[in-house]
Amino acid sequence: MKPYQPVIRTGKRVAVVGSGPAGLACADQLNRAGHTVVVFERADRVGGLLMYGIPNMKLDKRVVQRRVELMSASGITFVTDTEVGRDYPAEKLLREFDAVVLCGGARQPRDLPVEGRQLRGIYFAMEYLTEATRSLLETGRADPGPESPLSARNKDVVIIGGGDTGTDCVATALRQGCRSVVQFEILERPPDVRPADNPWPEWPRVYRLDYGHEEAIARFGNDPRRYATTAKRFEGDASGHVCAVHTVRVIWKAGADNSGRPMPHEVPGSEQVWPAQLVLLAMGFIGPESLLLEQLGIERDARSNVKTPPGSYRTNVRGVFAAGDMRRGQSLVVWAIHEGRAAARECDRYLMGCSNSP
Ligand SMILES: Cc1cc2nc3c(=O)[nH]c(=O)nc-3n(C[C@H](O)[C@H](O)[C@H](O)COP(=O)(O)OP(=O)(O)OC[C@H]3O[C@@H](n4cnc5c(N)ncnc54)[C@H](O)[C@@H]3O)c2cc1C
Repeated sequence: MKPYQPVIRTGKRVAVVGSGPAGLACADQLNRAGHTVVVFERADRVGGLLMYGIPNMKLDKRVVQRRVELMSASGITFVTDTEVGRDYPAEKLLREFDAVVLCGGARQPRDLPVEGRQLRGIYFAMEYLTEATRSLLETGRADPGPESPLSARNKDVVIIGGGDTGTDCVATALRQGCRSVVQFEILERPPDVRPADNPWPEWPRVYRLDYGHEEAIARFGNDPRRYATTAKRFEGDASGHVCAVHTVRVIWKAGADNSGRPMPHEVPGSEQVWPAQLVLLAMGFIGPESLLLEQLGIERDARSNVKTPPGSYRTNVRGVFAAGDMRRGQSLVVWAIHEGRAAARECDRYLMGCSNSP
């Protein structure tokens, strides 16, 4: 791989906000089209969830860093430790650049506002995964050490949320030397084979073991997931630190709203208490953060993502585009790359009247 320097520069300046896969793909394509591209990133390292989010055992950070260096050598400027809207005024961005592409992701985590939520030792999954990667990059150890409250070493770890982010937390806690790990999922355990209402070619909604679960079985002898289980409250010790999680089992049946939609109903007498010195909330994301979008006056859709016309990446503000999770909600890296490239093409057309971008 060699850096690609365009022969002709257009003289147009484009700001890309956010350096995840959407921002990187977008910046690369706009640079190839000859525009001068500046990528703003709030974190201290470039890469978005490729850097701080997806753990190193799933995506080696050297691969991300190698790509960033290639892009820098191709003429793209990266400005880190800078949150647009807080450290860099939004109106300055509109004044100094001919176009802006928003690729800020959908980072607003879903919280669990139950009794004891304020106790120390309860974190969002992203805080935990970020600290683990930072430790690995800076010290070579996945465990940030006993002085860090985010270390899982010798702790009973409870993860709330049975999705992929929770699984990444399981695998990271194992690498940090946790004493035990359990992962609560509010949904029922999926069947081992496809049910009749889930035929091919639909995505099979069946029970499967992800890498973190296989590793937990190898270490502790059982699947860390507890299905149809939800946290009712957190218990604290005398110092205000979490020491246990109280759960109940649920069954899914039609709710009282007459819609026929299954709702979780608590099973009386199913309360359980789980020891926990580290609790990680991995219950998904509810949308993009609001600060910059509000400052720019960007319209949102019903799911609070950035609103764009069908098949377009253009926002309601002239010259401002959006791509990736910020536009479509939490998704996959391949979608973010696709969106970043497509938004770059539309932005190029906006700047030049036509586009040769792929
Ligand atoms: C824990 C976890 C594991 C995952 N694992 C996988 C996986 O294995 N495979 C897969 O395909 N997908 C995975 N995903 C999903 C995937 O990472 C995302 O869909 C993808 O990264 C979205 O890319 P993006 O560029 O839209 O946003 P992000 O990657 O979220 O990047 C957005 C960037 O914008 C920055 N930013 C936000 N606001 C500002 C601002 N105002 N100023 C400056 N910077 C700002 C943020 O700091 C961030 O770096 C995972 C997600 C998570 C949370």
